[in-house]
This record gives sequence, C-alpha cells and structure tokens, in this order.
Amino acid sequence: MTDRRVSAESAAGEEKTALAWTHTARFLTTASELHQLPPTELPEIAFVGRSNAGKSTAINTLTQQKRLAFASKTPGRTQHINLFELGPKTSPDALFADLPGYGYAAVARGAKLRWQKVMADYLEVRRSLAGVVLLVDARLGFTELDRQLLDFIAPRVGNGAVKLLVLLTKADKLNRKEARDKLSEVQALLGDMATEEADVGVALFSALDKTGVGDAATVLHGWTR
Ligand code: GDP
Repeated sequence: MTDRRVSAESAAGEEKTALAWTHTARFLTTASELHQLPPTELPEIAFVGRSNAGKSTAINTLTQQKRLAFASKTPGRTQHINLFELGPKTSPDALFADLPGYGYAAVARGAKLRWQKVMADYLEVRRSLAGVVLLVDARLGFTELDRQLLDFIAPRVGNGAVKLLVLLTKADKLNRKEARDKLSEVQALLGDMATEEADVGVALFSALDKTGVGDAATVLHGWTR
C-alpha cells in the first residue's frame, strides 16, 4: 500500500471513532445560573452562536440524535445551558454544553443583558471548558455579537487554555467560490487571535449534505483526548 493510502485509511478510522464517540451524547442536565452547573473534571466543549445560526441542527447532526439540542428551544429553556455527557455510560469522558443562541430580536432587553452576562461569565470562569465551537451562518460571516463573543474568549484561547473551532454552517447554500472566499475571510479575521499557543480552526459545515461533519467530530474528539 502507498503511504498516502495508509494515511487516508487511518484518517477514516479516526473519523469513525470520533463519530462513534459524538453519537454517545445524552442529556445530562440544564441550568439557568452558572452555580447550578455541576462542577466537573471532564473536559467540556461549549457550542455557541447567534440564534438561527444552525447550532441545534449541528449538535443534532454531530450526535446523530434528532431532538437532543432542541431541548434548548422549548419555551422557558431558551436561556438555559444544557449539558450533554459523552463516552461510556459508566465512565463518561467529556461534556457538550449547548449555550443559548444570542441576538434573537424578540428577547426583551433585560433578558438579553442577563443572558449576555451568564454567557460571558461561563466563558470566562468555567474551569473545565476545553473548547468552544462557534457556529456562524456561512452566508453572513461574523456579526457584531460574534465578535463580542470572540473578545470574551480571546484571553483563554490566546494562552491555549481553550481551543476554538468556527463552523461556517449551511455551507450547502454557497457555491464553491463563495465558500472559498468566506473561508478565507473568516480565517483572516481569526488571524488576530493567532498566538503560538492558540489552537484555532475554521471549517465549512452542512447538516444537509454532511460537509465537515466527520472532520468536526474528529477535532472535538481530539480536544478531549
Ligand atoms: P439555531 O437557532 O442556531 O439552533 O438554528 P437551527 O439549528 O434551528 O437552524 C436554523 C435554521 O437553519 C433552520 O431552519 C434549519 O433547518 C436551517 N439549517 C440548519 N443547518 C442547515 C444546513 O446545514 N443547511 C441548510 N440548508 N439549512 C440549515
């Protein structure tokens, strides 16, 4: 076998293992205040993004569960942090945290501010936070609120404590050139965060045609090993 074929096969194996792992996700708990989150030694990966960016769909696609992340959309739970546990049931090895989408126009100002504070605090102080997946609609690119979020996490990403993966969602809606251009545009913007220690990635993602699903699972799995 050629080296290239061997490495392609090992990458496929890695992806399969990673997907089998993301598929183990199950609901753990929900919290509206930070202090209600269980303290944990497990590495936690937070999913964040503007409302309608495709966050629930991405989580459901990665975990291959139709309604897992839609728990966060039930009225009354939209401002909650939902935790999912991964790995063997008897010895879980990671958590996914689904954070409420931001920027939803119909949310009252007071609730918005409260939520922004919860989000900022979570990203700043959650000790077990190992990585952040930022979902961004590929057609829109970064919005002002996405930039604010990046500012919140920049210190911890810069010193390598927290890893960052930006997924450009709904990539099926872009043609090849648009996708390439958007990818370089976002890469350039993230360049500001690049330090020696920083682990920052960006990829196209589509729940519809499955672009980037295996790669994203591989990255997240890698973060928790
Ligand atoms: P959230 O508010 O960030 O959780 O967003 P949702 O996951 O609810 O998605 C918002 C809208 O975008 C829904 O109408 C989804 O069907 C649509 N959507 C999400 N992912 C994709 C995708 O990969 N491709 C396409 N074409 N539409 C998507």
